[in-house]
Amino acid sequence: MRPIDKINQRKNLYLIIVAIGFAVFIGLIFIEKQLSPFIYKTILYSGLAIFGVGNLLLYVGIRCPMCKSIIGYVIVFSAGKAEQCPRCKVDLYRSQ
Ligand SMILES: [Zn+2]
Repeated sequence: MRPIDKINQRKNLYLIIVAIGFAVFIGLIFIEKQLSPFIYKTILYSGLAIFGVGNLLLYVGIRCPMCKSIIGYVIVFSAGKAEQCPRCKVDLYRSQ
């Protein structure tokens, strides 16, 4: 398995968490009027927490398999074009 495959697995998992958090917000828009303020706030903050944790994991939870430096932001902003770790220059597309 190439390092990039492991990184992409992680990235997809974290993106799913972000998507779930976002889906909670969208769902809340539609059911807002049927909820009591307490339940509304509980769901709102839960959604915020899931969304926040997902984003956080996306940036700090993705590490270089070789040097363990945090490279999540590089992977996310490069949109799949990052071919090597910015720190140790390991080729992420070469199988180990
Ligand atoms: Zn590295």
